[in-house]
Amino acid sequence: HAKSQGANRYLFFNDSMNKQAVKRLQLENLIRHGLKEDYFAVYYQPKMNIVSGQLAGVEALVRFITPKGGVISPASFIPVAEETGQIIEIGEVVLRKACQAVKGWIDQGLFHGRVAVNLSSRQFSLPFLCEQIDEILQQTELPSYHLELEITEGTVMQSPPQAIDTMKKLRARGIHLAMDDFGTGYSSLAYLKQFPLNTLKIDKAFIDDMKSARGRNMVDTIMTIAHNLSLSVVAEGVEQPEQLQQLSKLRCDVIQGYYYSKPLSAQELTQFLQQQKQRSKPTLVSLT
Ligand code: C2E
Ligand code: MG
Ligand code: MG
Ligand code: MG
Repeated sequence: HAKSQGANRYLFFNDSMNKQAVKRLQLENLIRHGLKEDYFAVYYQPKMNIVSGQLAGVEALVRFITPKGGVISPASFIPVAEETGQIIEIGEVVLRKACQAVKGWIDQGLFHGRVAVNLSSRQFSLPFLCEQIDEILQQTELPSYHLELEITEGTVMQSPPQAIDTMKKLRARGIHLAMDDFGTGYSSLAYLKQFPLNTLKIDKAFIDDMKSARGRNMVDTIMTIAHNLSLSVVAEGVEQPEQLQQLSKLRCDVIQGYYYSKPLSAQELTQFLQQQKQRSKPTLVSLT
């Protein structure tokens, strides 16, 4: 009997599963190597205020830069990093780099807004999260009100009372809080009003759905709920001018997406900010 079980167990690890396990292990090793060699970079995606058409802030998005200069998107390594716990170290690197870069843009008079940094569930539940953030803000000399943190429904619904506690501590420091990918997870409306949030980010899937009347009604409803709770609304993944028009009609506050800008490297964002500054300068009228 034991022998047949053993045989079954052997069969269980078929070829494709083996390949998957190998791939996962390779990725884990690559991440460890990347952390040691500083291969993680932060890109910044500008967000636009719909009413003013001006820059509303930026979202920090992690990238893995290979030695040959290739860029690996987080979709391929974040899930593994979440599993192995490496996301905690990656998250700290991202937070430090983003705060440092933003401090630089502020000092150059190029930036006045907030940088939004994504927090993974594991990072958010770290018992020393607030202390870690305090330390990074102190080291980088970035005032806390320039920082925003993005968390998902899944993260806060794991243990709502504890999440509320952590969120209150972060808010007490002047840090803004946004709920990311809203509508894709499960969070109850009863909790939504108890979470001390500043912003709701409506997931791209809902913005894509605005082609239909039902889809537009859905976004309208989310917008109403958010505004009734005094939350500002960011629409994610806005690509088309028609989407911007519809969102403007629905009184959406901020858009983020390729329509305005794709995520930019630190160097590219510096240029973007310089152009913004030029454009918003009032023209001097000669009186002579
Ligand atoms: P997210 O936080 O919802 O970030 C928005 C994603 O949408 C980004 O993908 C961005 O590049 C993409 N995006 C923005 N505008 C458009 C658009 O108009 N069209 C399309 N098709 N896509 C658009 P990205 O950078 O690949 O990041 C994917 C996800 O990985 C993020 O989703 C976030 O959940 C996670 N992530 C990224 N950076 C970090 C990080 O530093 N820490 C953690 N924990 N997660 C991160
Ligand atoms: Mg985000
Ligand atoms: Mg998002
Ligand atoms: Mg999203």
